Amino acid sequence: MNYLKERILKDGKVYPNNVLKVDSFLNHQIDPAVVNAVEKLMYEHFKDRKITKVMTIEASGIAPAIMVANRFNVPMLFAKKTVPSTLKNQERYHALVHSYTKNTDSDVIVSKQYINKDDHILIIDDFLANGEAAKGLVSIARQAGATVAGVGIVIEKSFQPGRQLLEEMGLDVYSICRIQSLEDGQVTFVDGDE
Ligand code: 5GP
Repeated sequence: MNYLKERILKDGKVYPNNVLKVDSFLNHQIDPAVVNAVEKLMYEHFKDRKITKVMTIEASGIAPAIMVANRFNVPMLFAKKTVPSTLKNQERYHALVHSYTKNTDSDVIVSKQYINKDDHILIIDDFLANGEAAKGLVSIARQAGATVAGVGIVIEKSFQPGRQLLEEMGLDVYSICRIQSLEDGQVTFVDGDE
């Protein structure tokens, strides 16, 4: 069993609506050993894809994404949920993203300056649920004419439709750990996912 799974079993807390809280090691306080392990496994999986940029969405994707970007020695770019007053409409790409945990919609933006058609983008996020966040990032990359080289997820909730949605878009989805169920407050992992 990998270190991330051990931490989930020990410290993860299951909330209503199938929300797993991992604030003690990933989403609020961050354990460097967890993001180190994430970075190594992501690099192993995607190292042949000629990655030029790692992309995520603020805020909780930033910690794993910066570690992975550091390993690939490429910049990390995060989509912003608020538009800076200095960035004009025609200077940005945007996508509408529905938040699973907050049940709100945000129009997320990325400056056109930092992404172009020669980029091979690796999308990284902390969780995959319905796939909305990743779909928004794929849309932004494709608006720029960039190639999406893959989607790397720290914790996938495999009982939700995100993976299927992304695979139907032709994307390689790699998750460090895949959760089969959070029923009755118990975390179980996908069979054979050790
Ligand atoms: P999706 O867009 O795939 O529906 O949801 C992924 C996003 O929602 C992630 O960026 C993550 O921040 C948040 N999220 C979804 N499910 C969970 C969960 O169970 N726990 C936590 N902490 N965040 C979640």
